[in-house]
Amino acid sequence: MKIACLSGKGGAGKTLVAVNLAAAAGCATYIDCDVEEPNGRLFLPPQETTQTEICSLLPAFDAKKCTGCKQCVSFCRFHALMYVKEKPVVFPEVCHSCGGCALVCPEGAVSEQKKPVGVLETGRYGDIRVITGILHPGEASGIPLIRAALRQAQGDTIIDCPPGSACSVMECVMDADYCILVAEPTAFGFHNFKMVHELAALLHKPCGVVINKQEQPYAPLEAFCREQGLPILARIPYDRTLAAQAAAGRLVFRHSDTARQIFTALWAQIGGAV
Ligand code: SF4
Ligand code: SF4
Repeated sequence: MKIACLSGKGGAGKTLVAVNLAAAAGCATYIDCDVEEPNGRLFLPPQETTQTEICSLLPAFDAKKCTGCKQCVSFCRFHALMYVKEKPVVFPEVCHSCGGCALVCPEGAVSEQKKPVGVLETGRYGDIRVITGILHPGEASGIPLIRAALRQAQGDTIIDCPPGSACSVMECVMDADYCILVAEPTAFGFHNFKMVHELAALLHKPCGVVINKQEQPYAPLEAFCREQGLPILARIPYDRTLAAQAAAGRLVFRHSDTARQIFTALWAQIGGAV
């Protein structure tokens, strides 16, 4: 079972939910796909780690074979290629390493070259396998790293997605059996929550909601969940003690009775929902 934890914006509590759900699952795999800011390992500090360099594949052009037909440029839907000074030029920041330009080139003038984009770290925290994608500073796309991390899924797997609803999030959700949408009960949080819900709905994924930092129910969010038939799986209270423990890098599942009850019940519910 693969469970993706999503949130519309950073700071909503996605990682809090993901790491504590992994702890509630007991024997599980936790994959941190928030590769620009992977902080799950602060809560699940892995032991006996190994690191593997992950590369993206960028097109390289053979000037001797290239006839200047520009079919590669026309093909690239990401607009990562331009024909400049009588040769194709790639913009690595927007290239998605799809390999399509090499396939369409009638002259066989395009090959692929490796470019390191980050590191995949694997380790264990007790019974939890901890997989972390760490993007090199300045790299624009973490997709190859996210794919490499997702290939490590094994048994019950909790995927800590990047925040928002960009294509990196879609990559994480594509293969998930269930999505947990972590919502902050504020106007801003609700606005972003609707975007991730739209993404999960687009991919026809079953999903439920965890409301974090709740003082009072936020009426628009409650109404939206009712209208969409979205189950509210858990409500994490706006609690100073919990916040202080999380800020100190503690796994609240292990340090708070309230948190233990919330995440144990959440895990039981998801097991029934999938
Ligand atoms: S590999 Fe794909 S995304 Fe990258 S330049 Fe070629 S066609 Fe465009
Ligand atoms: S498709 Fe091949 S031959 Fe045509 S411009 Fe691109 S690299 Fe050159």
